[in-house]
Amino acid sequence: MRNAPRSIVIAGAGIAGLTAALALSRIGAKVRVFERSPDLREVGAGLQLSPNATRILDRLGVLGRLQGAVRPPGVLLRDVKTLREIARVPLGPAAEQRWGAPYLVVHRADLQQALAAAVAEARNVELLTGRTADQARNRSEGATVRVAPLLPDIEADLVVAADGVWSRLRQNFPGGGAARFAGTIAWRRTIAADAETVRALVPDCVVGAFLHPRFHLICYPIRGGREINLVAFTRGRPAAEDWLTHPDPAPLLACLAGCAPALARFAAEPSGWTAFPLHTVSPEQRWVHGRVVLIGDAAHALTPFAAQGAAMAIEDAATLADCVAHIDGNWAAALSNWEAERRKRVARVRRRGAFNALAWHAAGPVALARNAVLALRSPERLAADLDWLYGWGNSPGT
Ligand SMILES: Cc1cc2nc3c(=O)[nH]c(=O)nc-3n(C[C@H](O)[C@H](O)[C@H](O)COP(=O)(O)OP(=O)(O)OC[C@H]3O[C@@H](n4cnc5c(N)ncnc54)[C@H](O)[C@@H]3O)c2cc1C
Repeated sequence: MRNAPRSIVIAGAGIAGLTAALALSRIGAKVRVFERSPDLREVGAGLQLSPNATRILDRLGVLGRLQGAVRPPGVLLRDVKTLREIARVPLGPAAEQRWGAPYLVVHRADLQQALAAAVAEARNVELLTGRTADQARNRSEGATVRVAPLLPDIEADLVVAADGVWSRLRQNFPGGGAARFAGTIAWRRTIAADAETVRALVPDCVVGAFLHPRFHLICYPIRGGREINLVAFTRGRPAAEDWLTHPDPAPLLACLAGCAPALARFAAEPSGWTAFPLHTVSPEQRWVHGRVVLIGDAAHALTPFAAQGAAMAIEDAATLADCVAHIDGNWAAALSNWEAERRKRVARVRRRGAFNALAWHAAGPVALARNAVLALRSPERLAADLDWLYGWGNSPGT
């Protein structure tokens, strides 16, 4: 390690910010994290954590702290009307063997707590909650950030903006526009995992993906299998910027009404859903502005159709720490190379998400063709198609 920076400020203690704090502390940096919320309360729902992310969490000592993570044996694609199996991607021990790290499903809050516990024990990391970073500026050697209600501005060798999809810091810089509504509403609900529901939705604790031309529904067990996380995606208009706790569920219920009874029953009990309008960030805008770097959703919020937003945030954090560890005076060149590498990776993931959305919402003859193609592919072949994504970081050069 050469010339480790003395001081790094991170805005946001979400998945990206906390992972960055841990990874940067490992390279000897002095890190301060400012989080807007007064505490790290339970936000969001389930997350699928693929091996490209769990490999990093393991190296950072987080995996062992993760409470209630479930290792699903596979992803099962099914038709919403007949519940017929369309395809199956093997996970469980097969994933661990193939990609060198486990595929897990967890509650986002459990991951954030595990990261925060590791941060609390890390050397040279200070986490301050109830502090909003609202302006970052470059100076001759480093950057400053204004953090309300602290005064004066805080100086650092590097400022990391990990303040999520609605990032304020992103909007300090040219081209750093507002997040854009992606046209899709995510409907989320958690239900108790009784034996009948598990059998119908997530047999053997699989990740179930139910496909339909107008929507899709993803289900998986979380919290040690005691709960099932449901997320449905429909077209719609945003009623709020953030999670809405009592949405009008009419668009979702209209989709569910024609489904197999195991799914249609949710239309008969319409309460308990929360709704979130999916937003993305323009792929054109830059992630490095002098000594201010955007990571995670602040840089490249994606639609969750490849289930990779948190994984990309974790990869960003680990690779940024690696980049900083090797900076030998020329920050601009090193950060620019880091951005170029990360852009290639995130662009490929974005394309994969767009492909999934297209394939999962196929209708009529296109859906029949999709099912026929998938039926011809062995589970191993389907897994091999994901080697570039999940096997990342498992061998030199990936
Ligand atoms: C329905 C849905 C399902 C998803 N499923 C998956 C999945 O299965 N797998 C996966 O990998 N990803 C998934 N994602 C994506 C994933 O949740 C996000 O990509 C990930 O949480 C981004 O992490 P982040 O740290 O960048 O942002 P966040 O987790 O949003 O964290 C940002 C943090 O910054 C704080 N903050 C905001 N502004 C400021 C400020 N000005 N100053 C200080 N602090 C601030 C916030 O309070 C927050 O704590 C899903 C997303 C959705 C919506």
